[in-house]
Amino acid sequence: MSSRPISSVREVLESIAGSVKTTVEDLTGETGAQATDTKPKAQKDVRAAAEDGTLAAKLKDPTFLKETNDWLKAADPKDPAQRADMVKVLKALDRSNDAARKKVFELTFDSKIDSSTTRKYVPRMTGKKPNQTQAKNSDGSPAYNEIFDKAAALDPAALDAMTDVMAQLPTRHMPKRWNFTGQDADDNTRGSYDDRSDGADLAFSLKDSAKGFAQEYASNCLPGDPLAKAKAFDVIIRHECGHKASTEGDFEGLTKSPGGGKWVEHGTIEDVLKALAPHYDKLVEKAQEKGIPAEPAIRAAILDPDNGYDAAMIAAALKIQDATRLDHPLLQMLGQGGVKGYQCGSTPVAIEGRMYIVGGPDARWFSFEKSAWDKRVSLYQYATPNEWFAEFYATANNGDAKLREEAKKRYPDAWKWLNDRNCIVVG
Ligand SMILES: [Zn+2]
Repeated sequence: MSSRPISSVREVLESIAGSVKTTVEDLTGETGAQATDTKPKAQKDVRAAAEDGTLAAKLKDPTFLKETNDWLKAADPKDPAQRADMVKVLKALDRSNDAARKKVFELTFDSKIDSSTTRKYVPRMTGKKPNQTQAKNSDGSPAYNEIFDKAAALDPAALDAMTDVMAQLPTRHMPKRWNFTGQDADDNTRGSYDDRSDGADLAFSLKDSAKGFAQEYASNCLPGDPLAKAKAFDVIIRHECGHKASTEGDFEGLTKSPGGGKWVEHGTIEDVLKALAPHYDKLVEKAQEKGIPAEPAIRAAILDPDNGYDAAMIAAALKIQDATRLDHPLLQMLGQGGVKGYQCGSTPVAIEGRMYIVGGPDARWFSFEKSAWDKRVSLYQYATPNEWFAEFYATANNGDAKLREEAKKRYPDAWKWLNDRNCIVVG
C-alpha cells in the first residue's frame, strides 16, 4: 500500500521520552491517587464525566466545552494517559459536528486530516427511459461514471473506526497528514504513505463503513495467512503507521537480515539475469540449436515486455518451432515475478531457494528467501522491503492477540528487532 520509494531514513525529532513519562495515578486509575494528582481540572472533569457516562451531554454545555477545548490545546498527546482522555472527548463529541471532531482528532493524534474528496460511482446507463440498462465497458464489466464530491465531511463511522485503531499506537508512528477519500464502488480500502511529505492517503469504502468495516484483508493474502481474516480497514491504518515507524530506524538492516527475509534489491531485469548468469546460460543453451538464434536475439526477446516472459511468445518471436526449448525455471520465475509480482499463488517458483519479484513505484526487481516467504503474514508482505516492514508491524501490533503471537512466532528475530527499538507498541 505504498507509493513511497526505497529512500532515505529520516531523522525522527520526536522524543520517545514523552511516551513513557506518566504519573502514578495515570497508571493505577483514580483510586488513592488524590495526593499526587496533578492533572488539570478540565482533564479530571472529562475523566469523571466519561466514567459516569455524562461526557457527551456535558460537552454540549458551552462552559464545559470551552474549558475542555482550552485543556485539549495545551495537552500533550505523546503522554499516553493524556491522550487516552483526549480520545474520550473525541468519541463523545456529537458525530454531526464534523469541524469539532476534525480539530480534536488532529490534537489527539498530532496529525492533520482532510477529506477533500468523496469519490462516488453511479451506473452509466444506456438506452431510452424506461428501458435503460447499465452500459458495459469493453471488457464486458458494468460501466460507471465517477463523481467527485469536493470538500466532503469526514465519514463519522470511518473517523470513529480510525480513532479506535490509532488510539493503540504512539503519536510518533502517526503520519503528519491523512487524506481521507470515501468511495462507494466496492468494499475495499486502499492506502499509501509518502515519506517525503510524511502523508498517508486512505481511500476507504463507504459501503464497508456502513457495514462496520467488516471487509477482510483476504485479497492481499492466501487462505490461511495470518492477516487473511483481519479487517482490511484496520490493517491498512496500522500498515501506514508502520511505514512511518520504519523511518525511525534502519529497517533495511532488518529486511536484509536472515530474520527479515534476506532481501536483495537487484534493480533492472538485466541485473537479475546477471545475478543468475549460470541459469541464464543454461536457458540460452537449451533454446539454441547449433548456436541459433544468437544469444543477443534471445536476450532481446526475453527482455521485450510485450512477450510477457512467456515461453510460447518468446519462441514465436525467435521463430523457434518447438517452444519446449524455452521451458526453464528462470523463465517461469521471470513470468511469475515480472507479471504477477507478489500475487504469485501458493506454489511459486524459486531458484536456489530464492524468489524474485518486481515491486514498488519504480518497478525494481527484488529477491528474498523462499523459506521466509513460507512464513509470511500476507502475500503483500513480499511486495517490497518497505511493505515487508509495514505488514509485519501491522501484525506484530495488531489489536488481535492471536495475530501478534503469529508475528512473534513466525519471525522471532524481526519481532526482537522491533521490540529492541520500542516498536512493539500493542499488547
Ligand atoms: Zn504500504
